[in-house]
Amino acid sequence: MRDLHIHLGGAVPSSVLWEILCDNGLQTEFKHFDEFHSSLTADPHDIRSLDDFLGRYFGLTERIQSSPAAASMSAYQLVAKAYRRARIEGVELRYNPVKRVREGLHTLEAIILATLQGLERASMHYKVNTGVILSLGRDISLEANWTITEAAIAWRSRGSLHGAFGVVGLDMAGPESGRKEFLEPWLNEIAAMYQKARQAGLGTTYHIGETDLTGPDGIERVLDRVQPDRIGHGIQLRTAEGAQLDRLLGILKERRILLELCPTVNMVTHSIESLDELVDLVIMLDEQDIPFCLNTDAPYLLHTNLQKEYDIMAEKLGSRAALLDQCHEHAKAYSFMKTGWKTPTKGTPLHPFQSNL
Ligand SMILES: [Zn+2]
Repeated sequence: MRDLHIHLGGAVPSSVLWEILCDNGLQTEFKHFDEFHSSLTADPHDIRSLDDFLGRYFGLTERIQSSPAAASMSAYQLVAKAYRRARIEGVELRYNPVKRVREGLHTLEAIILATLQGLERASMHYKVNTGVILSLGRDISLEANWTITEAAIAWRSRGSLHGAFGVVGLDMAGPESGRKEFLEPWLNEIAAMYQKARQAGLGTTYHIGETDLTGPDGIERVLDRVQPDRIGHGIQLRTAEGAQLDRLLGILKERRILLELCPTVNMVTHSIESLDELVDLVIMLDEQDIPFCLNTDAPYLLHTNLQKEYDIMAEKLGSRAALLDQCHEHAKAYSFMKTGWKTPTKGTPLHPFQSNL
């Protein structure tokens, strides 16, 4: 199994974060580990929305991970835990490096190098393929987003070293409430960043249509303007109707764009109220021959792992659970962890999984 959508800010065990916090002598309101641990459990009864989830949990974990040593240890432990829990074969880890420089105390280069070194160790120790997707942010300036884009290009993968591929892709993440995708100049600028990244050989993905704040209209705008290879979530596709639904299905199918689905986080953030909504979506994707796979997003905060995500969806799908089998092939085919990434075209055999392991 391969996890193509997992955030550094939500995937590192609290015990590891606590050790980093104590070793660095960071000032927080937490005096005891138990207090800290329970604060890092996302409770769906307590969380109101995606914005609430991102603001409440990611701010703290990002602050703790904000040093080269902390970033390296976090990246390593994320892979180690994912392997121990679900025997994963590949992880594409995503994070926003600008949010980990502690207001300029550290350089971006030092943070990126540290995560890559942590992942090289993890790839060697656990025989797992690893890659980094640098996330742009809807909640940071365009200037900072250009800095991340240039860094992704400068650090882009030139192949694998012991299964570690380095920086393989670019993402957009952050709260959907700002509805940035509906601001013309902003989206044009982001599209230019994606174009530059694509020309440099990076894979591209984009969080959109996770909530009704961006909805099918947001998905359509991103598909038209940014043209990513994959979509993070995109679950609002299920609410599209009539001509717009036909248009969206047509684009996704024709361009072979993969949807990265992450069931548990959508439940916890109330982006969906029942997994049945995702069941209807995956049945539609399967019928329309649109690629998708399952992922964890923030496994530590959500107390999940990749096997669990497949199990809960298989249970919900019942007699149709076999349609999830294709997810593993899709996750392999659409992984950016290969030399010379290209969107798989319809009818061509799936790319062989390239690895030095
Ligand atoms: Zn995500």
